[in-house]
Amino acid sequence: MLDSNLSHWLEAEADALDRGLRDAEEVLPQLAAAGVLGLGVDTQYGGAGGDTCSAIDAIATVAGHSLTAAFVLWGQRTFIEYLLHTDNTGLRERLLGTLLDGTQAGATGLSNAMKFLSGIEELGVRAASTEAGWQLDGRLPWVTNLRKRGFVVAAAVELPGAAPFIAAIPDGLGGLTRSADLQLLGLQSSNTAALHIDALQLERDWLLASDARQYLPRVRPAFLGLQCGMTIGLTRRCLQEVEQHLAGSRSVLEAEWRDLRTRLEQCDAELKHGLCAGRFLSEPASLFKLRIALAELAGQAVQLELQASGGKAYLQQHGAGFARRLRESAFVPIVTPSLVQLRGELQRHAGAVA
Ligand SMILES: Cc1cc2nc3c(=O)[nH]c(=O)nc-3n(C[C@H](O)[C@H](O)[C@H](O)COP(=O)(O)OP(=O)(O)OC[C@H]3O[C@@H](n4cnc5c(N)ncnc54)[C@H](O)[C@@H]3O)c2cc1C
Repeated sequence: MLDSNLSHWLEAEADALDRGLRDAEEVLPQLAAAGVLGLGVDTQYGGAGGDTCSAIDAIATVAGHSLTAAFVLWGQRTFIEYLLHTDNTGLRERLLGTLLDGTQAGATGLSNAMKFLSGIEELGVRAASTEAGWQLDGRLPWVTNLRKRGFVVAAAVELPGAAPFIAAIPDGLGGLTRSADLQLLGLQSSNTAALHIDALQLERDWLLASDARQYLPRVRPAFLGLQCGMTIGLTRRCLQEVEQHLAGSRSVLEAEWRDLRTRLEQCDAELKHGLCAGRFLSEPASLFKLRIALAELAGQAVQLELQASGGKAYLQQHGAGFARRLRESAFVPIVTPSLVQLRGELQRHAGAVA
């Protein structure tokens, strides 16, 4: 159950958040006030306890109102997950409290790293060793939750002659420049921008993981599982909207609505069961298949909502919620790991076992 103040705020502001008419800076404090940032974080670390599934449920519920807010929550909560998996206890102690209470924004620039892990692209940030740590140069073309009043961003870094590593880079260091907000199809109030890194001096105590190739597969189940929460919430909301129209002439849609609803709840259960059992660490392909299945369900659900609503959905006066969900659903297949990347991974995997 989501705090009622948060659900009312999200329901009222969802369109403005999607179109960039509401200040992006407001999203994180609203999420923090509702106590959702610490879900699935052990109480010994200052969290609310429970497991990752409770965080997935919160992301899904937020996504049912606003995918913009859900993606901000995903970024923040995923950064928290990075800290829970780091061996650098000093960094965890320094950052975790402020991330849990939302006074610090955590941004995850690891799309590039996930693609790197799959052999799709080179790392965009390079390091040269210095006495105190490293000098960094490069670019992160897409990062969300880069609050204008401050953030810390996770990035994968190439270090010639050594393993690539993952660093936390705090805002305010010389050589780090945030672009203006990217102009997007939707999700505009998400503080999404590019980062330019030019001769940035980073000290060693900002290291999240010394070997990206070992660390990333360990955090990937939560990274992807939390991301699936966004798709689950959006799909569930579309199906709730369909349900409102099933009486009368739209009853012909009922069988498809039931089928989508059943498949959605099966995917949700399978995701949580796999996460709790730790299955996705050894069987990442089954998580990739779930992410693809959920993305397909989201596409089908938003189209079913259109059919159920009919021409009304096309009128600005009545169809704002549908139009927003249609734009939001366009994000689902392209966020890393995109469906194209996952299909490529599964093809390689099938080739390897054949
Ligand atoms: C709203 C939003 C928020 C995002 N937030 C994050 C985040 O917080 N962290 C993160 O790591 N990633 C983030 N991403 C990036 C996302 O996860 C994907 O990496 C991105 O959408 C590119 O995926 P792709 O499969 O198209 O990549 P690719 O296969 O790399 O690109 C496909 C084509 O698009 C072009 N292209 C890709 N990006 C750009 C660009 N910025 N400008 C011009 N051309 C481009 C490429 O050159 C290529 O021709 C975000 C994306 C969006 C849309």
